Amino acid sequence: MCIVNGGLETAAFLLTLVLHEFAHILLAQAFGMEVEEMQLLPFGCAAKTPGISFCNSRAEILVAAAGPGINLLMAAILIVIPIEEKSVFLEAFCKYHIGMAAVNLLPVLPMDGGRILCAALSLKLGERRATQLTSIFGLLTAFLGLAASVWLIWQGQWNLSLLIVAIFMLGASWNYYRSALQSNAEKMLARRRQIGKSGVAQVHAIALNREKPLGRALTQLDQRAYNLVYILDDQLHPVGVMDEQLLSELAVRHGVSAKFSEIPWKEEKERRRLND
Ligand SMILES: [Zn+2]
Repeated sequence: MCIVNGGLETAAFLLTLVLHEFAHILLAQAFGMEVEEMQLLPFGCAAKTPGISFCNSRAEILVAAAGPGINLLMAAILIVIPIEEKSVFLEAFCKYHIGMAAVNLLPVLPMDGGRILCAALSLKLGERRATQLTSIFGLLTAFLGLAASVWLIWQGQWNLSLLIVAIFMLGASWNYYRSALQSNAEKMLARRRQIGKSGVAQVHAIALNREKPLGRALTQLDQRAYNLVYILDDQLHPVGVMDEQLLSELAVRHGVSAKFSEIPWKEEKERRRLND
């Protein structure tokens, strides 16, 4: 009986997790984002979408909210539907939906609550300040979790899950705080040094119409890869290609709202080649 209950509880947990992640993936794909991999966390997993940071899109808020949203909806349905005696599976299913929504909505990156908070703050404060502030919220939440763990141990009760989650949140928030202090230029330089050391890098290519602004290309860059931008004409024929460094230099010189068609980027590229 015990094994059957354990099996049903495990099935309820896995189904809750699958529904949560599918909601993220479906919404990400609806916004045209590519889901590259699933990241395993101590209390679930997170879908990773390349080319989009946690902080630069209204779509990010909706994609991050989709997972906890489906959990809360399912829990509400399970509570409201009139079933006389709920089975072990349904009881566990409802409990895991509530638990997963609550944990994932904590304001800690890279969890859904942290992503929602960071994206919302970035609309007013910009990506860098938003990441810093969200990381500080994350650090405070982690310290609260650690304090609660220590208090429970003091009371003679070990809560290993709470301790693991608090330690994970502390590490993740500290990493996000440190990376927020780095400017984009510093991140790019660090990546270039890495390419210099290993001699190889993964390439991330973006294609966009020359009537689009430089800033549109900047928001699509993948921080972990060497980025190339293909510029297309109205017939979708490529008219040129530039790397991330030239794109950043042009954005500093002409502003992020300048369109590719308005700036002499081919001449800049030629000048750089001659200087080299
Ligand atoms: Zn999630």
